[in-house]
Amino acid sequence: QAKEAGRNCYRFFSPEMNRAAEDRITLAAALRRAIREDRLSLVYQPQVMTDSGQLHGVEALARWIDPELGFISPGRFIPLAEETGQIEVLGEWSLRTACRQMTAWMAQGIDVPIVSVNLSAIHFRDRNLPATIARIMDEAGMPPERLTIELTESTMIDNFEQTVEIVTAIRALGCGVSMDDFGTGFSSLSNLASLPVSEVKIDQSFMKGFEEPSGKVYSVVRAIMHIGQSLGMTVVAEGVETQAQYQLLRAMQCDVIQGYLFSRPLPPEELAQWCAASMSQSPPPVHA
Ligand code: C2E
Ligand code: MG
Ligand code: MG
Ligand code: MG
Repeated sequence: QAKEAGRNCYRFFSPEMNRAAEDRITLAAALRRAIREDRLSLVYQPQVMTDSGQLHGVEALARWIDPELGFISPGRFIPLAEETGQIEVLGEWSLRTACRQMTAWMAQGIDVPIVSVNLSAIHFRDRNLPATIARIMDEAGMPPERLTIELTESTMIDNFEQTVEIVTAIRALGCGVSMDDFGTGFSSLSNLASLPVSEVKIDQSFMKGFEEPSGKVYSVVRAIMHIGQSLGMTVVAEGVETQAQYQLLRAMQCDVIQGYLFSRPLPPEELAQWCAASMSQSPPPVHA
């Protein structure tokens, strides 16, 4: 019997699983190399103010194209970085790169009011996070009010009191803090109520089926909007792809809209061109 169980156990490691494990190790090593050799990049997606059509800010999103492995999505390499202890370095790299980009835009007279940087909940376990952010802003010459930190809860907030302290300290620096992907995963209503965040982003999954002023999804989006606004937060809708969604959000007075309807995430030079084009026309350009 034991032998049989043993044989069964052995079968858990199928050739496919061995390959998957090897792939992960290869990928983790490639990521480590890419970070070290500064081969990741950031793209920037416009966020548009719903009422005026003006640029509210941009969200910085990491991109990795490996010379051998090709394009690897953040949906794959961010969780991998979290699991292999590389997320700390990656987070600091994102912050530094986004802050330097902002000061470069400012020097060029390109008016991008805010850049939002994603940090995983793991960073919020580090008491030194506010000091790290302050140092990186200082080194880049970044005005704090131009930086927003997006708290993406891919993992559970395990020390809630400490997270509150850290968020408070980041706000005290003058930066914004945003609760990302609200309404899914670990981002609960009680977290929203207890964390001193300045912004909430309605998860893009809610945009599916959000086309008409009726139905459950519509009611849920409207409820999230009201909660966020009554807590004094800026409400951002992400993943907005259609005119119908945009018009509904506008009617609801959602503050800010982000999605392919306005623009995909763009490399810095293209973002500058997008800004120039959208300034010369109003309402903003819609690329459906
Ligand atoms: P997120 O922070 O919620 O970012 C929004 C994601 O939605 C981005 O995917 C963006 O490209 C995509 N998106 C924007 N507009 C639309 C739209 O209209 N329709 C659809 N279908 N998608 C849209 P992306 O760039 O693949 O990033 C995925 C996730 O990876 C991000 O979700 C974020 O959680 C994480 N991530 C990306 N960059 C970083 C980073 O530098 N650090 C950390 N910690 N996480 C990052
Ligand atoms: Mg985000
Ligand atoms: Mg999001
Ligand atoms: Mg997301």
